[in-house]
Amino acid sequence: MSNEAGTVPYFDARPAWTELQAELEAAWRRVMDSGRYILGDEPERFEAEFAAFCEARFCAGCGNGLDALRLILEGYGIGPGDEVVVPAHTFVATWLAILQTGAKPVAVDVRPGSFNADPEGIAAAVRARTRAIVVVHMYGQPAEMERIRAIAERHALPIIEDAAQAHGARRNGRRVGSLGDAAAFSFYPAKNLGAFGDGGAVVSNDERLIRQIRKLRNYGSEIKYVHDLKGGNSRLDPLQAAFLRVRLARLDEWNARRAAIAARYRAELTGCCALPETDAGTDPVWHVFAVLHRERERLGRHLEGHGIQTQRHYPVPPHLSGACAEAGYRRGEMPGAEEIAETELSLPIGPHMPAEHVDRVIAAVRSFS
Ligand SMILES: *Cc1c(COP(=O)(O)O)cnc(C)c1O
Repeated sequence: MSNEAGTVPYFDARPAWTELQAELEAAWRRVMDSGRYILGDEPERFEAEFAAFCEARFCAGCGNGLDALRLILEGYGIGPGDEVVVPAHTFVATWLAILQTGAKPVAVDVRPGSFNADPEGIAAAVRARTRAIVVVHMYGQPAEMERIRAIAERHALPIIEDAAQAHGARRNGRRVGSLGDAAAFSFYPAKNLGAFGDGGAVVSNDERLIRQIRKLRNYGSEIKYVHDLKGGNSRLDPLQAAFLRVRLARLDEWNARRAAIAARYRAELTGCCALPETDAGTDPVWHVFAVLHRERERLGRHLEGHGIQTQRHYPVPPHLSGACAEAGYRRGEMPGAEEIAETELSLPIGPHMPAEHVDRVIAAVRSFS
């Protein structure tokens, strides 16, 4: 088979287009014909459908996942002098959103294997100036919400979910996006629910917060030319909203395809590398299939030699990134996150990955010595 010689890509954006072409073309035509190219019907319909999907009351679309996080923080009035508790292991955007408000990120280390923040670490990080707890459902694994909820309630703090990697995941039967007080989603093309460009959304049951965010994303205005907040411009594009509606209808099915691949990796790679752990009662959505190996670079080169692309999520943790220097952390302070940065390798996974590519990944990892 020619596949044998071909590359196993880490991610390929095109199969989603190929599979959904007719519906995406109809969605494109509907928006073009409507003459409404900012806000309006299409984003509103997507917001209603995505809120229902997350089993939450409200959704407000915005420009991207970073803005979704920042809009939530601003919506809560968080700014200079405030502290926000955040996991040490995440994409840098989680930290940058906090820094953009002028607040200080206070890091909580994570346990390699679960990849999520340790609830005891969260409890220890809460201080007098803490205004919110950010949780990240890393790689699509829901965070330990019951214990985190108890900490948040003790201190009357809101929980902000960074759900950019976890669209559709469940914990004890409940969807991420309605496990905390407000949730940020990204629709970057490679995410489980991806647009064909940038996009983001905030999901919440808090009507007051959502109303504030609708203003903040649109020049502080709810009524044309009435600007009562110092808002910016971060609106979900109607074309992307129309495309997202098509893909949302497939999300559960596409997440199930990811889960089937993850199940094979977990069954067939036992003993080859440290496999991701999952909590009982969770349905992770496998945005990333992360393994840990002491010889990560050599394993990555071995797979590359077999035509298999891999990634590292992420080689530099936020607390050691130049972008977050003002947070004031040094190497050695977050050993769990630093260990992940040095040993994590992401194997290809996705709803359009053919079974023979999964076979090849498994065979290649097993042949590593
Ligand atoms: C992708 C991602 C973001 C940022 O989303 P953008 O849409 O690229 O701004 C934030 N947090 C996490 C955990 C992400 O994976």
